[in-house]
Amino acid sequence: MEKGITNTSASRFAKLRSVDIDDVRWTGGFWAERFETCRKNMIPNMWTLLENPEISGAYENFLIASGQKQGRHRGPKWNDGDFYKWLEAVAFVYGVTKDEQLDRQMDQIIEVIGKAQREDGYIHTSVIISQRGRAGGNTETEFENRLDFETYNMGHLMTCACIHYRATGKTTLLDIARKAADYLYMFYKKAPENLANNAICPSHYMGVVEMYRTTRDPRYLELAKGLIDIRDLVKEGSDHNQDRIPFRKQTKAVGHAVRANYLYAGATDIYAETGDKSLMDALDSIWRDIAYTKVYVTGSTGALYDGASPDGSKSHSAIQLVHQAYGREYQLPNVTAYNESCATVGFALWNWRMLEVTAQARFADMLELTLYNGVLSTISLDGKEYFYTNPLRVVEDLPFELRWSRQREKYISCFCCPPNTVRTIAEVISYAYSISDEGLWINLYGSNVLDTNLSGGAALKLRQQTNYPWDGAIRIIVENAPEKEFSIFLRIPGWAENAGVTINGKTIAENIKSGQYFPIRRTWSAGDTIELTLPMPVRLIEAHPMVEEIRNEVAVKRGPIVYCLESTDLPENVEMLDVAIPPAIKFKSRFESDLLYGVTVLQGKAHVFAGGDWSDKLYRTFTDRRPEEVDIRLIPYYAWGNRGKSEMTVWLPLR
Ligand SMILES: [Zn+2]
Repeated sequence: MEKGITNTSASRFAKLRSVDIDDVRWTGGFWAERFETCRKNMIPNMWTLLENPEISGAYENFLIASGQKQGRHRGPKWNDGDFYKWLEAVAFVYGVTKDEQLDRQMDQIIEVIGKAQREDGYIHTSVIISQRGRAGGNTETEFENRLDFETYNMGHLMTCACIHYRATGKTTLLDIARKAADYLYMFYKKAPENLANNAICPSHYMGVVEMYRTTRDPRYLELAKGLIDIRDLVKEGSDHNQDRIPFRKQTKAVGHAVRANYLYAGATDIYAETGDKSLMDALDSIWRDIAYTKVYVTGSTGALYDGASPDGSKSHSAIQLVHQAYGREYQLPNVTAYNESCATVGFALWNWRMLEVTAQARFADMLELTLYNGVLSTISLDGKEYFYTNPLRVVEDLPFELRWSRQREKYISCFCCPPNTVRTIAEVISYAYSISDEGLWINLYGSNVLDTNLSGGAALKLRQQTNYPWDGAIRIIVENAPEKEFSIFLRIPGWAENAGVTINGKTIAENIKSGQYFPIRRTWSAGDTIELTLPMPVRLIEAHPMVEEIRNEVAVKRGPIVYCLESTDLPENVEMLDVAIPPAIKFKSRFESDLLYGVTVLQGKAHVFAGGDWSDKLYRTFTDRRPEEVDIRLIPYYAWGNRGKSEMTVWLPLR
């Protein structure tokens, strides 16, 4: 339990612990296919981008900083961190597959990273290259510019190093990360205010805590606690960076959504170690603000390209610009939804950590929603093209430009999102189970085999067989269990009405309450079989009436999957914006193995209200029109944008 995705084995204020990386693997079905795409396509394809200085410069920067090559720093300052995210994906996949070629590749890369690091532990290629090139001259200085993203880069190094150590048993990268953490500790003692100013996209909160969990060096815990406290030292803070008011006084999600979600995830890690109630009070309040007023139906967060905060303040001078940010409550536009892929990943990371400390199913529900929809949509089905932003509606004739492409791209100049998605897809398997003193918690469903130890060390082996998320029948077969009684906690998703459980064919519960973990405590023996049934009718989803953009519109969901209408699936003469859903629509679900790598589609008869002429009009007199009927086929939202240029919408008018 010390070699999991997060190591909460000794975290006093965490209720759940991770299983080790190599304790569980997918054996078939949905996530096994994604993991395989990650191994075969995503990781090698991304390496060809990152190592090619004509495209990225991310690896070249390490070669130059290490003195093995000549040249200048290329690309954004946060490229180091993005490179570490990719390396983390490699380490994790190695942990599951033990593919020696990956191990050798990592060894070579880690040697270069080690050579790039300064003797005092500082590591950030941009500053190091500048200092190497012009020793004694006009060079960049450490933590001089908060937009250098040094703490972001070092944080990802630490997280990556912990995963690499847990996956390989080698300390090569961990030693580098230790030196970096020691440097950060030294700098924290020397210039706390400066360090606080540099907490931009603070991945180092998570990184430093994980370093503490790996090494048990008490200085790292002191540093982690201090990192939250020194936020109060920031002068002229902003909602954009979540430091206008002290973190412990915050009750709402504001500002840059990646920065916010990384902060919340890191603060949750610190709570897991310290039990500082004031942190949890803030976190719980902020989570509710997001879950009840700010998250998209897909689990994505960060609605705004650009906005202002504190929006509507009585004091005009207090209002500042925010971008890539959480909006106000219920402000959830579709076409202009920003939803940076990194924000969605950050939200998943945070929900995982909240689940660990509370063992409450609402966080697992949100994690699942985010993984199947918000996260998966950010990468193409072949694993080679990416979205930076993730709107819920795309129309072709948009009369204004948006900052990022609305089509999938093979490379994005700001490459923070793609490796974040790739490491997350690799690591989903680690979120499937948790361990507590009471027993085993099943958080996510999918065919897999688990071979682990319960609290106290007793061996447990079981197998899941299911065609989830396309089918809600899940079979769990115990293959080896300790003689002592323990509980298996089944997550009953919030969307699952009338769930049922049998053991060895005998019904033990019907109509189980949704949105909770259902515990089954008994003495288990090899061969015991649990059958969990989660009915998956097609459901129309409506939003709180305060969400102006989707008044009288519905989204369509089946199980954990959010669906969308893509123009590719409409007859040529039908415009996507003219399609409406009759309230009594009956959808038929059908699995199509040849479509979009195998998806369950929803077919139904919708209405078309031909729009007519809107030229030079913003308003016109409404005349009731008889609808035409059209056959529509909805596909999972995560799979849109994989068949060439198209329009797409998640929300459809009800009429
Ligand atoms: Zn990003």
